[in-house]
Amino acid sequence: MILILTQDARPGIPEFEQLMGHLSNLPGISTRIHTEKGAEQVLTEIYLIGNTQALDIEDMKRLPCVESVVRVSEEYRVLGRHKEDHRPTHFEYNGVRFGQDNLNIFAGLCAVDNPEHVEIMMKALSQNGQTCTRMGAYKPRTSPYSFQGHGAKCLPYVFELAGKYGLKVIAMEITHESHMEEITDALEKTGNPTGVMLQIGTRNTQNFELLKIVGRQSRFPVLLKRGFGITLDESLNAAEYLASEGNRKVVFGLRGMKTNMGDPHRNFVDFAHVPVVRRLTRMPVCIDPSHSVGLRARGPEGIQDIMHVTAQGILAGANMVLVDFHPVPSKALVDGPQALTLDELPYFLEDVRIAREAYDARCRLAASFTSTI
Ligand code: PEP
Ligand code: MN
Repeated sequence: MILILTQDARPGIPEFEQLMGHLSNLPGISTRIHTEKGAEQVLTEIYLIGNTQALDIEDMKRLPCVESVVRVSEEYRVLGRHKEDHRPTHFEYNGVRFGQDNLNIFAGLCAVDNPEHVEIMMKALSQNGQTCTRMGAYKPRTSPYSFQGHGAKCLPYVFELAGKYGLKVIAMEITHESHMEEITDALEKTGNPTGVMLQIGTRNTQNFELLKIVGRQSRFPVLLKRGFGITLDESLNAAEYLASEGNRKVVFGLRGMKTNMGDPHRNFVDFAHVPVVRRLTRMPVCIDPSHSVGLRARGPEGIQDIMHVTAQGILAGANMVLVDFHPVPSKALVDGPQALTLDELPYFLEDVRIAREAYDARCRLAASFTSTI
């Protein structure tokens, strides 16, 4: 059960202490306080853990400082959508809104290779009105002999260039807690010119110790990629690990499933799950068409499969698109064959705009149609 408190409720005021005193006397119930600092207000929630079945919602609503009460099911307690659950489905980070009601594009390099390519990429993004990007510094690779990413070495120039071109959020995968420290350090040393969304890759979706460590910090939001060989429920529970430790600024990423059934695509595209994740949870949903499709093939009409699946995800309500671009794909150190080129960037963004407009039209149509079922 979650008690959502009134805006002015905070530890120290008599009503709050009175409430906590009452809760501490409930048999078999422990509490966990969660505070969420938004732009204008601080939202405090109290999680009641234990035998909450015996508690009456109306009784709890009458307690001091309590604005509303949500009875949560066992599943996805923090990030789930529960009955009569009016908690937000969005968050803000570094001036950018991430929500189930909007769309952000993260076009960029799969892996940082050199400062020249980073700058060319970022300049193109800024010329096309973009404020977010993807830049991999730590790359988990199948072979130990493949390029593993430049790591901490490249962070200063990546962050400085992001500041120069007005980029607010960089999605960057980490595979170890030390990477989070290196990112924090480099941001401090460069004067915080940009923000970072920590990405947990598909190979680490169930790295529970990493999830707990990333969940315990609230500075960076997190993009959690779905595990490529586990059920959706297992991946949603992985997201819940982050939130249960305190960080609920989580975006859930669909990136395709590993199976030969998806051939000739690199992974079997799973964007049909966009509405499922939005229905079951309050997380914005990201799609990664590049790692799903993995090649630059086109349909007979001339549209690339990567663009087709991007449109499919957006038509189904996706809130973020993570997509690989490269100034010279043949020279990319990682995933060149799936990278779009910079002259395709305005075309890609226009295709995205058309798909989002169609999604909005579909929502209006749905709202005008009252189902009898
Ligand atoms: C990536 O986004 O660069 C990546 C490696 O993704 P995934 O974890 O989905 O394979
Ligand atoms: Mn990649």
